[in-house]
Amino acid sequence: MTTTPESYVCAQCAGLGPTCCRLEPGQEELCFPVSELERQRIVDAAPTLGGLTGAPNTGPFLAHMMRLFPRDRAHMASLFPSHGSHLRLATRPDGSCSFLAAEGCILPREVRPYYCRLFPFWVSAGAVAAFDASGCLACKRSKGVRELLAQLGVSHAVVLDLHGRMRLAWGMTPFEDGELPARLKDRVGKNA
Ligand code: SF4
Ligand code: SF4
Repeated sequence: MTTTPESYVCAQCAGLGPTCCRLEPGQEELCFPVSELERQRIVDAAPTLGGLTGAPNTGPFLAHMMRLFPRDRAHMASLFPSHGSHLRLATRPDGSCSFLAAEGCILPREVRPYYCRLFPFWVSAGAVAAFDASGCLACKRSKGVRELLAQLGVSHAVVLDLHGRMRLAWGMTPFEDGELPARLKDRVGKNA
């Protein structure tokens, strides 16, 4: 739902269960943080809605961030010092995001946090990857990343672009180690 709210599989997923807009109870600690850029976008677009909350930088939270950004561990440690806090999407007692309504996310697509727009995709070592998300209907129906991209109507380029923008929002280079992914290097080389 977060990647392509219009997609058929996400609509089916919403009819079956909680979707990616609802955390499993107890998983709030691992909710992906909202950057200042993303907060500002949300506040500008929906000043009266609220929907964000502060959360402590716990050990499990930091470990989770380091797993997601294994080559930027030092940066994660400086962004999220222990005893500090970060901002995340607020959730209701049932784990659903406070921006979730019966018809889906109430935020315009371009205002949603990058992580929402990326899910269930990620970029690892320059390659598009997918989370092993057991509750994701599109993941269950796909044999690999290529099939998953097709199911959700997303291209490699869109995932790489969103991931790079999200890294920039957190003060990192758009690509791990500042390197262009091999796929883009090839393209740049051919166009040079
Ligand atoms: S969990 Fe997967 S299938 Fe369900 S709404 Fe999210 S992206 Fe779509
Ligand atoms: S902001 Fe929107 S897309 Fe993101 S988790 Fe909340 S309801 Fe879902």
